[in-house]
Amino acid sequence: MPTGHYDLHTHTTYSDGSELREMIAAAQQAGLDAIGLSDHCVVWDDPFDRSDRFDFHRTYEARRSDIEAARTEFEITVRDGVEMNYDPNYEDAIEAFLESAEFDYAIGSVHYAGEHYIVRKGFFADADDERKQEAVDTYIDWQVHLIESELFDVIGHLDLCERMPALAGFLSDDHITALIDALTNSSTIPEINGGKVFDDANANDPHLLERFRDAGIRFALGSDAHRPAEIGERFAYLSDIVAESDLALLEHQEIAGERE
Ligand SMILES: [Zn+2]
Ligand SMILES: [Zn+2]
Repeated sequence: MPTGHYDLHTHTTYSDGSELREMIAAAQQAGLDAIGLSDHCVVWDDPFDRSDRFDFHRTYEARRSDIEAARTEFEITVRDGVEMNYDPNYEDAIEAFLESAEFDYAIGSVHYAGEHYIVRKGFFADADDERKQEAVDTYIDWQVHLIESELFDVIGHLDLCERMPALAGFLSDDHITALIDALTNSSTIPEINGGKVFDDANANDPHLLERFRDAGIRFALGSDAHRPAEIGERFAYLSDIVAESDLALLEHQEIAGERE
């Protein structure tokens, strides 16, 4: 069984994370073999103004220079990745950007689905069950489209909706089957994500992850750390989940190619 000692999902000041060298140093100190930097990127004007907050499609070349300099200063392997916002209506724009930017690897993540801003705290505070069910249905539908698009190496935070207290419990067996079918027929790898979503986020559900394991699906590891101290903490947390549920991991080298 592989024992992945890496973290492919971290954020720097090129989106909403911390200083790049501090993130790399923390990963090295935590004993990891590799850290992937995956800043948020939105390449269209989205309805929830994420594109106003994240301008990484304009700054990734500057980050690349920073990464190249940092590679000479640290032992740990540093990978030049991205967390692309996914919306099925903008696949052409995503594809064009990814082709021109040539990252080592790309994570695709659904953060909003239709009119539902899945990751905004309090967004579902006044929502009834019908609306929450519609949000989860749309979220899963978009995730299936993401996997089928083959645009990304990794799908970010696969189990996000169950980790959000407001939306937990609306994921059905049919949703899980649809995700498994899509993953089985795609080269896109699901990620076990250690992100907190919100302070009161639910832990990853081992029974849910075991459904994917039993279908023969392997995972990538991503802490979703935004601060240096989170990298080691969340790596330990994710390693426990992997051991408890006996999940199979891919090594980071198996996820897309390294840039020369
Ligand atoms: Zn995300
Ligand atoms: Zn993230």
